[in-house]
Amino acid sequence: MGSSVKNLDIIHQQLLTMQQSMTDKLASIKETVTKEANTDWSEQAQERENDEVLDALGNEVRRELQLVNLALHRMKEGDYEYCDDCGELINIERLKVLPFTNHCIKCASKRD
Ligand SMILES: [Zn+2]
Repeated sequence: MGSSVKNLDIIHQQLLTMQQSMTDKLASIKETVTKEANTDWSEQAQERENDEVLDALGNEVRRELQLVNLALHRMKEGDYEYCDDCGELINIERLKVLPFTNHCIKCASKRD
């Protein structure tokens, strides 16, 4: 039991670090987009392409941030270690590698 709590502590820290870096990343993406909105007309085509890339990047980070937030919420509620589908314990090694997963390996592979 004791070691399991310690593992969760480590994962909790990991999730907080991820949350922070994703928030930072989103902020800098937003900043880049805002900055580029002020450049010349001639550069607009190139700019639009960049915006699309940044948009896609931003969406992906936002999606991951959502998962991280959900994992932190699940941790607070005490159901972090349990699979969303079958309710069984998710392997701690799996959680260490994929801290924001909410499915055990069996259910995750069924989904693929
Ligand atoms: Zn499961």
